[in-house]
Amino acid sequence: MGQTPKSKAMLQGKCPRCRRGNMFNGATYSFGGNNMREFCSNCGMKFEIEPGYFYAAMYVSYALNVAESVTIGVATFVLTQNSTSPWLYLATILGGCFLLAPFNFRYSRIVLLYWLSPKVKYQPYLDTDDKPENV
Ligand SMILES: [Zn+2]
Repeated sequence: MGQTPKSKAMLQGKCPRCRRGNMFNGATYSFGGNNMREFCSNCGMKFEIEPGYFYAAMYVSYALNVAESVTIGVATFVLTQNSTSPWLYLATILGGCFLLAPFNFRYSRIVLLYWLSPKVKYQPYLDTDDKPENV
């Protein structure tokens, strides 16, 4: 039984402890799909470790937004060579951030749990198809 690679589990929004259960109910861009589950369906981990834990995800989300804004701004300049109209940049950056909001919501929480939560550790013994009751 192989272990699930971390990068694959992060991309798919899997539980950081067992890399099996889903953290979210649906796809990133489906209506209602970005509802977060309270517990992992596979190992029972509570995703919101403490009340208000995901406030910290705001900082991750902010960093993602800054990186995306810079990327969109540079891409707009490269594609249009425009250096006179601030409205073009305002529109593309705000529009891009609006379109990327569901992505940021999801991956800020995933990054928080995978990279910034020292209490959450990958448990390979949970990364199986067997039910973990007998552990
Ligand atoms: Zn789990």
